[in-house]
Amino acid sequence: MPQVSGSEPLMSKEDTCKLQEEEDIALQVTHLGIMAQTSDGAEFQNSFSKIVIEAEDIFNLEIFNLAPYILSGKLEITLQDDRTLSFVNEISVGELVKASVSEFSPSPEPEANKAFLVMARSRAIAGKEMRRHASDSFDLCNTYHCLEFNGLGGIRDLIRILDRMVPNEVMIANGKVVFPHFQECCGGKISSMKNIYGIDDPVHQAIDDRIAGEGAENCFHSPSFRWTREFLQEEMADFLAVSYAGGSSHVFLRWDPIKTDPTERITEVRLVGKRKLKLSGTEFLQTSWEHFGVNALKSMCFTLEPMRRATIFRGKGRGLGVGLCLYGADGLAKKNFNYQDILKFYYSGIHLERDHQPVADAPQIQGSKSSGAK
Ligand SMILES: [Zn+2]
Ligand SMILES: [Zn+2]
Repeated sequence: MPQVSGSEPLMSKEDTCKLQEEEDIALQVTHLGIMAQTSDGAEFQNSFSKIVIEAEDIFNLEIFNLAPYILSGKLEITLQDDRTLSFVNEISVGELVKASVSEFSPSPEPEANKAFLVMARSRAIAGKEMRRHASDSFDLCNTYHCLEFNGLGGIRDLIRILDRMVPNEVMIANGKVVFPHFQECCGGKISSMKNIYGIDDPVHQAIDDRIAGEGAENCFHSPSFRWTREFLQEEMADFLAVSYAGGSSHVFLRWDPIKTDPTERITEVRLVGKRKLKLSGTEFLQTSWEHFGVNALKSMCFTLEPMRRATIFRGKGRGLGVGLCLYGADGLAKKNFNYQDILKFYYSGIHLERDHQPVADAPQIQGSKSSGAK
């Protein structure tokens, strides 16, 4: 048994137990720390500040009020200073990518899903290299900030099969793995990195999500291609008070869009009232997701129609506006684009590499009109 320091109130003796198959362990947070009890009745006398679960195979994590997570490998559960629990799971990039694509892909098309696998793998690898979570005890978070991940339970068979067809492939630009941005639906026009984030990035250019001379936009079939949402005046006032005025109303009375980019996405907003506050459009949108959920304001591409007690928002697309359009990629696959051409359509100046070697061009799909697509 390791030595225990009495000065750390939550520190307790280290303890280990082995669970048999079908057995489980229940954890509970009390004022003393994390308490544990196994299903066969073994109780741990101490409370812990950290619990580590190491499984040879998969296990099920159930958290009250949330859908169960199927996980594998090592899981560290740590009690934070604010009495919440942090969960850190060690997982291979390959499993993370397959789980994430299975979750976010709206497409049944093999070539679109191959493009998503290469994109997500690039994002995981580059995100780790960029140390976006340098101040945390993990490399990637499980939200759209890095890659959405809710366990291995949702991995689709199709995704597993397709993953074996693009093994270890990543997107490269300027000698580095690209950190690709993506969105569910662009509404027809994709914004540049420069206009949305103020960062010069030749890979993420503004483009129209359509093939010149070939009819409708590639993402025309997305349920979020066009949307309408009515917000009551009080609803918006409440949002501004809670999210920007520390809960006090009457500080910000309204907000105005003050800048749009050439795609008509709102890139800057101003809150007006006793104080004034300028925010980027993406910041405003992401804060609205935290407040209203992700189904209210779907993008920053909308027009406003003020009514007496409410405002009608008429919008286009869903997401932050930069990078590959998931529904557009599905549309391109339906127009016989292969996965490489899909990626090159959305990301400028990239090429694909596998284990540091360039990937040969994929054969054109029969009936393809995609050659030379840029
Ligand atoms: Zn993150
Ligand atoms: Zn699109």
